[in-house]
Amino acid sequence: MNTGKTSSHIPMTQFAVVAGELQVGGQPLTRIAARIGQTPFYAYDRSLITARVAELRRALPDAIRLHYAMKANPMPALVCHMAGLVDGIDVASAGELQVALDSGCSPDEISFAGPGKRVEELQRAVAAGILVNVESARELPALADAGERLGVAARVALRVNPPFELKSSGMRMGGGPKPFGIDAEQVPALLGEIGRLGLAFEGFHIFAGSQNLQADAIIDAQQNAYRLAVELAAGAPAPVRVLNLGGGFGIPYFPGETRLPLDAIALNLEEIARRAAVDLPGTRLVLELGRYLVGEAGIYVCRVIDRKRSRGHTYLVTDGGLHHNLAASGNFGQVLRKNYPVMIGNRAGHEAAEPCTVVGPLCTPLDIIAAKVALPDAAVGDLVVVFQSGAYGASASPAAFLSHPACAEALV
Ligand SMILES: *Cc1c(COP(=O)(O)O)cnc(C)c1O
Repeated sequence: MNTGKTSSHIPMTQFAVVAGELQVGGQPLTRIAARIGQTPFYAYDRSLITARVAELRRALPDAIRLHYAMKANPMPALVCHMAGLVDGIDVASAGELQVALDSGCSPDEISFAGPGKRVEELQRAVAAGILVNVESARELPALADAGERLGVAARVALRVNPPFELKSSGMRMGGGPKPFGIDAEQVPALLGEIGRLGLAFEGFHIFAGSQNLQADAIIDAQQNAYRLAVELAAGAPAPVRVLNLGGGFGIPYFPGETRLPLDAIALNLEEIARRAAVDLPGTRLVLELGRYLVGEAGIYVCRVIDRKRSRGHTYLVTDGGLHHNLAASGNFGQVLRKNYPVMIGNRAGHEAAEPCTVVGPLCTPLDIIAAKVALPDAAVGDLVVVFQSGAYGASASPAAFLSHPACAEALV
């Protein structure tokens, strides 16, 4: 449980500070900015990603396989780095599939989920030999067709929309009516259809939600997903080989939020793995995580281009904003806007001055990077750093809005 809520952000200690300057990948921020040759940019710290995966593996039982959900950050270099660390990659489009294949990840370990897979995407998935997490009855005959034409049996798992939700989740993607997956009640009929069509059935995918910081809610969802899978497996045309229990591990973005504790989740997964060895022998248990693996390893950096006073309040106007980092602006699923943790990257350790508001260059009041935040006195040319920006950043932002220059990305 997150108890002892405070009204401030937890310290962003994952990046070192040397001589008043934030370091990324062991290099000072201003040096990285010079190397990249422009602001704004995203910088992702390779060693932090490696450390995060290692930490997770130490905490979780060996039986749990870790997949990277690449929609969190599809930068090709980052996906290549990740391919060497995790056991598989989950994609959500044929475009992502291409990047996953290019990364060197074996097609055996790539799976494809998403509610609106086009026939052409399904054909490409079958040709690539990856596992398709089927989300609609419509996909089954299309997959069978594609397999027939290529002379292979399409590999399928069913993505199940469970009767339960992931409680206290930032984004709910299961329970009740949903466009995602197949309602659990409809699954038995589709399992029969999979057998009739001669598709290669491999298992189930049950993903209930995203951005959860409550270990007990995640444990609940995983237990429910496991029970449901065992129940559904009784009607399957072949033994379950893979059970994807989803993910949903969150990271702290806002004041009062703390890091997700892993110990109780790990204990619960150990128990599930023990039971699975009996109930579903030979089944691989998979967790698919996006933001938890990369979110804290990335920063978004923009430069102060103006400092203005308006009726007593200070505004720092930067060259970056919601067109590159929609989530930090509060417009990517937030109900009440709250600030991401920010700093002036070249003035670490300076005393905070009066509260100011950091905005972008867009001509809209939505373009806020941080509202009424205590920062040191910043000058034109200083570098504003937005932490927790490694996931759902560049690729989740409306880059063309207002026709400003694109941001750069670097894996450091
Ligand atoms: C978005 C998504 C994920 C990743 O969610 P995170 O919050 O980034 O961990 C995993 N699985 C599926 C099916 C998704 O749609």
